[in-house]
Amino acid sequence: MATTRRSAVPPTTPPRTARDLPPADVPAQFVKGVGPVRAAQLARLGVHTVDDLLHHKPARYEDRSHIAAIGSLVPGMRQTTQGTVVAVSERRHGTYQFQAALRDDTGVLQATWFGQRYLRKLIRRGTRLIVYGKVDRFGGFQMVVDDFEILSGDEEDTLHTGRVVPVHPATEGLTPRALRTVIAQALETYADAEPDVLPDPLRRRFGFAGIAEAVRALHFPSTLADADHARRRLAFEEFFVLQAGLLQRKHALDTIDKGVRYQKADALIQRLVATLPYALTGAQRRVIADIARDLQRSQPMNRLLQGDVGSGKTVVAATALWLAIGNRLQGALMAPTEILAEQHYLTLRRLLAPLRVKVALVTGGGRKRERESVRRDIVSGAADLVVGTHALLEGGVAFKRLGLLVVDEQHKFGVMQRAALRRKGFHPDVLIMTATPIPRTLSMTLYGDLDVSVLDEMPPGRGIVKTYVRAPEKRPDVYAWVREQVRAGRQAYVVCPLIEGSEKLQAEAAVALAARLRHEVFAGIRLALLHGRMPTDEKEATMEQFRRGVVQVLVATSVIEVGIDVPAATIMVVEDADRFGLAQLHQLRGRIGRGAETSFCILLTSPRTDAARERMDVMAQTKDGFIIAQRDLELRGPGEIFGTRQHGLPDLRIADPVADLPLLEAARQEARMVVERDPRLDDPAHRALRHAVQARFLKPGEAAAVG
Ligand code: ADP
Ligand code: MG
Repeated sequence: MATTRRSAVPPTTPPRTARDLPPADVPAQFVKGVGPVRAAQLARLGVHTVDDLLHHKPARYEDRSHIAAIGSLVPGMRQTTQGTVVAVSERRHGTYQFQAALRDDTGVLQATWFGQRYLRKLIRRGTRLIVYGKVDRFGGFQMVVDDFEILSGDEEDTLHTGRVVPVHPATEGLTPRALRTVIAQALETYADAEPDVLPDPLRRRFGFAGIAEAVRALHFPSTLADADHARRRLAFEEFFVLQAGLLQRKHALDTIDKGVRYQKADALIQRLVATLPYALTGAQRRVIADIARDLQRSQPMNRLLQGDVGSGKTVVAATALWLAIGNRLQGALMAPTEILAEQHYLTLRRLLAPLRVKVALVTGGGRKRERESVRRDIVSGAADLVVGTHALLEGGVAFKRLGLLVVDEQHKFGVMQRAALRRKGFHPDVLIMTATPIPRTLSMTLYGDLDVSVLDEMPPGRGIVKTYVRAPEKRPDVYAWVREQVRAGRQAYVVCPLIEGSEKLQAEAAVALAARLRHEVFAGIRLALLHGRMPTDEKEATMEQFRRGVVQVLVATSVIEVGIDVPAATIMVVEDADRFGLAQLHQLRGRIGRGAETSFCILLTSPRTDAARERMDVMAQTKDGFIIAQRDLELRGPGEIFGTRQHGLPDLRIADPVADLPLLEAARQEARMVVERDPRLDDPAHRALRHAVQARFLKPGEAAAVG
């Protein structure tokens, strides 16, 4: 089904035709030649509106612009040539073949198509054809045709041959050729209606073409250089809209007065630090100072804390929360999984116990009576600090006076959820923590509305982690070794192979692996299982037993990926490690090496692809999260890792935040100048930009949430 985007401003008079509407408001189905079937195919490509169609970036281009004379064709090359059909024939046995003999002044070419029976109705003697494909020579010239076009008039523009031809990402039932035709049609009818988001002076300064010219050149450029120009211009525009939206959001937040003045920050920090069993690292002290400064301002904090696994983010969060609580506000911490929420609950309760902080845990599980009593404590203010999962967002949880919200592992939370939580409080300060080491380029794209602090120093006294990649044949040896280590008093994680898409199948695989290991390897050893489908209480009990050393081997799915902190566990075996992405392996491995002892990570795998082998090598070579993230980006591309959709930001249809970094920086700078001068984008010159930001960016609910 085609979906319409929200029209930024309803037209005052009803439009006469769809041509009068901005292409973003016109369903793709309005394009000539697009019926319900085509529309459904386009939707599979993420193309819903005419604007999407105009921005459907070609995957590549083929330069078919040079038309060779038949006599000068070169066997083995892909070439374009043209001529008049002098004979046609068909072969019906086996795969259907259609053949046409083409002649020009210099020679004859035998052109062949496979499996396209409709051609017999289209191509006859006398038809003038332009064909593109691989040339061969058996006696005479031959070609297996990739693409062709029928020439009718002298000056008719060709679409599929005889020019630089775009090859668009296609889908089942919708070939690049069909897509090209649809896009050409869309360009003809709608390109001139596309509003130009870039203000004129900016456009001139950068030497960018107008929008209509740019979208035309993106699809049907005269030269490859033209295509590149157009792509860069459209990428710049995309970044410009994204950054303008983010900066507007930031600006809106900066004008809010949260109505609270934090007092006595230094004294409160001193009180907490005095109770810690260790000294804070320099990085922790610096980040805590950043946060304290934010909290004492009248505007709400909106800060991202980046710190590699094990860098000690929890105590920073605890300090921030304590500042809120010390100022008679409530704090909340939201975690992505129940296991992690439970662990944060235990950690924070322990850390803040000397300060008599009352901590409550909100998860989906537990008995109804208990849940209700916890909720009463939150609304009455009896609970100072509330730790939970998404359950914190549910209607039933109301705060008395929420001052600070900490979100752990934000990449699992969307902007919408952040906004929903904000609405529960009184413009709370927000601290987002992430262990995903995001290269600066991407943090700028995704978190352009946040201030960023980095914990770039590990607490002292960490043992080293040795990583080994082992083939499946070594499995028995590996497990025999693990068994001896566990008998000698160590604790180990065994991570199940990843099964994507089905939590049920994943759980079953985990159950089976645990049973097998218990039976075959770990007889007499206390082994437990942890997976996402277990009841909350059971998960909690299992983690607690592992923490206390009662359970020696924990067989787990990737639910242990984030946050789990059991310093005594020093061994990890990852089954079928090549099924995991680099970022995920890095997170998983972050569970060990938390104590002073040397830890061991064994990746069991026979990598099936070069990329998988490379991932394993990277893991064996480095522990540095930033290097791993950079390699991950290079190996997988940014889209897959940081799909912007989940952040509630518009998709990048043209731009690549890594390859186009200089454009991103330039666009951010331009957007900053625009938003500083005209924060609401009221200036008529910014009209199209304002509409683009509204339509592509802020959803109605969020607009309210940022004030
Ligand atoms: P992460 O950043 O991955 O959330 P944690 O907050 O779980 O890291 O901290 C990892 C471990 O380091 C915990 O066991 C914590 O108690 C310990 N830790 C944190 N800060 C320090 C410090 N300054 N000195 C020593 N140990 C610390
Ligand atoms: Mg953590």
